[in-house]
Amino acid sequence: MAQPSLVLVRRDLRLADNPALSAALEGPGSVVALYIHETNLRRPTGAGRSWLNQSLLAHAARLATLGVPLEVLEGPTEAALAEAVARHGATQIFWNRRYGPAERAVDAALKARFRADGLAVDSFAGDTLVEPFTMETGTGKPYSVYTPFWKTLRTRDIARPLPVPPARHPIAPPVVDADYRAPGWAGPLLAQWAVGEVAAEARLMAFLNGPVGDYAGSRDFPALNVTSRLSPHMAFGEISPRQIWHAAKAMAAVRPEQDAAIEKFLSEVAWRDFNINQLYHRPDIAVHPMVEKFGRLPWRDDPAALLRWQRGQTGFPIVDAGMRELWQTGTMHNRVRMLVASLLTKNLMIDWRLGEAWFWDTLFDADPANNPGNWQWVAGTGLDASPYFRIFNPITQGERFDAEGQYVRRYVPELASLPNEWLHKPFEAPDAVLEARGIRLGVTYPRPMVDLKASRGAALEAFSALSAD
Ligand SMILES: Cc1cc2nc3c(=O)[nH]c(=O)nc-3n(C[C@H](O)[C@H](O)[C@H](O)COP(=O)(O)OP(=O)(O)OC[C@H]3O[C@@H](n4cnc5c(N)ncnc54)[C@H](O)[C@@H]3O)c2cc1C
Repeated sequence: MAQPSLVLVRRDLRLADNPALSAALEGPGSVVALYIHETNLRRPTGAGRSWLNQSLLAHAARLATLGVPLEVLEGPTEAALAEAVARHGATQIFWNRRYGPAERAVDAALKARFRADGLAVDSFAGDTLVEPFTMETGTGKPYSVYTPFWKTLRTRDIARPLPVPPARHPIAPPVVDADYRAPGWAGPLLAQWAVGEVAAEARLMAFLNGPVGDYAGSRDFPALNVTSRLSPHMAFGEISPRQIWHAAKAMAAVRPEQDAAIEKFLSEVAWRDFNINQLYHRPDIAVHPMVEKFGRLPWRDDPAALLRWQRGQTGFPIVDAGMRELWQTGTMHNRVRMLVASLLTKNLMIDWRLGEAWFWDTLFDADPANNPGNWQWVAGTGLDASPYFRIFNPITQGERFDAEGQYVRRYVPELASLPNEWLHKPFEAPDAVLEARGIRLGVTYPRPMVDLKASRGAALEAFSALSAD
């Protein structure tokens, strides 16, 4: 009888468009799927861990319809895999490639070790629209700026997604511990979401059949529900970017009037590929500033200020709304992510890595490329950075993108009765307006924790001192 093959499950908790799984199932032998909580690598924690557990549960049930049991192990990758290879007498290993430097080093070592042991080891492209090592500028360098990256990517032939492999003899789904090392606080947040491949596909289709038409014009307005909310599904590979790409293109073909909106949406999806490119070409971007000299920025060590930011008590309503949305739902609107990150890194001069770490723990979509890539973009330490002198003003941004105040009123109820005129700057409201509504600054709602103008000036000085280098 043919010996079993092992398929490693990583950021690809799906049956469709899963080249490693499809390849394993083409062989005559049985197939076992393995998820390893790799103690030697950065792993999902907090909200991400909670999502992962549920997703593993859903994936185990889907794999069982193909006759594939899912085993969940924990340990250093090579040791855990060696144990599974020996226990199953496996002769083949399959996986979809991943692109972080540490993950690549681990996977290269696995290939060398198990090939030397006489096993067949094969890896495939499944996590990106195009693989990072195939994207280079006209001069043969990696892209460091998004716009030319997108111009090239949009002309590339994006591989068609693979179908779900044909069913084999189904088995009973194995038991997966859905609470394994997940924090209690994440449970109620997760209940607001549907997790897994089936839910991801349903969300994509609901988005393409509805809000996508308003995407281009309204995606920056946090009170409007027009973005796809696909990011946690993508972070765990419950749906692939190639599936999204081709489903969106198919929709544009039957509804040409939505072509521009769909193009805008796909250009955002491509940011994920861009960040994976950044990750591929540099030392760990969650730790090292992409532009080395910005490692010398004079970050302030201020745990009390960090805590106020984390708790949504900064005194800037749109920032506080964002931080509380994160804490109550496990996500935050993209525009507001930029505002909260800008306040932390530019006005409070707190190291972007501390913000990245908070997001890593509290976001369901915490992603090893998108999270540090975006933090560096806002902090101004990245390559395709918004110029360092562009510092978001949370008052004018709030007035522009939440003019009617629905978003702030939802998450900062203590200010809900303030007229729009003062909602984004309660500290400028006349005393009588505040008093009439029972708002006492410093008591019922905090005063601003930093002077925007002075802190902006100080940040500019710190950046320009280094820019001359
Ligand atoms: C400081 C900061 C941290 C962030 N951390 C993460 C993170 O950990 N994980 C994450 O997936 N996104 C992150 N983002 C990017 C963005 O905020 C989210 O992808 C987006 O809000 C998810 O909502 P959506 O799925 O409705 O997006 P949509 O607007 O519907 O976009 C569709 C998909 O495109 C991709 N995308 C959209 N915007 C971006 C972007 N700016 N960068 C990279 N990919 C993008 C995502 O995969 C997203 O699901 C971060 C942004 C900032 C400013």
